[in-house]
Amino acid sequence: MAEELTSEQVVELRAALLVERSRLEELLNLSADGSLPVKLDTSIGRLSRMDAIQQQEMTRASRLTLDTKRRQIEASLVALEKGGFGECRLCDEPIGYARLKARPEAPFCLRCQDARER
Ligand SMILES: [Zn+2]
Repeated sequence: MAEELTSEQVVELRAALLVERSRLEELLNLSADGSLPVKLDTSIGRLSRMDAIQQQEMTRASRLTLDTKRRQIEASLVALEKGGFGECRLCDEPIGYARLKARPEAPFCLRCQDARER
């Protein structure tokens, strides 16, 4: 079973969450234009319009991933304030520093994450 976090580890993970949140917000702002609907009356050729639509779908998919991660980060920051940070949201066991260092926004312990993905 993973160990509880020390206060130094919590400080470090909070800093990592804040850095990651501003990075994600920047990426989401940068890609905001790319997810607007492709105008069908634009005087670009049929092929480049298909390119544009495909590009737009990729942008939308990656924005969704980024947005999900940002929500997890927000939830982790709330948990840092209110308590419960570093605890698995399914089984309440400590998630563990090693895992949180790699993914400070991780909502579940490895065991529960594995079980969910199966
Ligand atoms: Zn768990």
